[in-house]
Amino acid sequence: MGERDLKISIAHLYPKLLNLYGDIGNIITLKKRCEWRGIAVEFEDINIGDKIKEHDIYFVGGGQDKQQEEVADELYRQKDFLTEERDRNAVFLGICGGYQLFGHYYQPHDKERLNGISLMDAYTVAGNTRFIGNVTARTDFLEPKTLVGFENHSGLTYLQGDTTPLAYTEVGNGNNGKDKTEGGRYKNVFGTYLHGSFLPKNPHFADYMLELALEKRYGEPIKLQPLDDKFETETHNSLIGKSY
Ligand code: GLN
Repeated sequence: MGERDLKISIAHLYPKLLNLYGDIGNIITLKKRCEWRGIAVEFEDINIGDKIKEHDIYFVGGGQDKQQEEVADELYRQKDFLTEERDRNAVFLGICGGYQLFGHYYQPHDKERLNGISLMDAYTVAGNTRFIGNVTARTDFLEPKTLVGFENHSGLTYLQGDTTPLAYTEVGNGNNGKDKTEGGRYKNVFGTYLHGSFLPKNPHFADYMLELALEKRYGEPIKLQPLDDKFETETHNSLIGKSY
């Protein structure tokens, strides 16, 4: 099956509330990397009150505590469906606040605990320091191995059970500034603290996500043809090792 025969469906969950620091750039990257290959993209914004339907990829951006509060109840009401989607190997990407809600809970400062949807065995508690700055992290499953981006969070995330780190920090704080982990993964659910936005600077991870989503949809591994990522790669490499 040629790439022009392929289709992929993407849902952007709560873009009006969780879209901090240009996280919409992740959606633009996924769409463009499909369009440049002639892969058809079905796309849907899901807002408060909408019923989440079946898709191949679900994206949730970051947001301040207040926006997270508004989204947490909506997500929690649809937790069973989203868990079934996870177990059908749908691909999820959560950035920062969205990532935090993929775990069991997010405990803000001096406020009620927010229920997460437990797509991954992890939890987050607000720390006393706000982590702000560039991050370089190293994966054990991508080529190139590095992921780069910008973090701005006070939440400290701790991974448990079968949840594995997305990467290990070389520069910056990542999940909690202590255990040198950045982000998390369980099945095809990914979370990261990297804003920036994340995928334009890490095109190899964008393609990794697209290949997982295509395998979920078509039931067989599909290797995408490489794109000319000259500019993306130059940007990525210029950020490796950069702190402030
Ligand atoms: N409100 C959360 C925190 O401060 C998430 C922030 C974000 O999405 N950048 O940790």
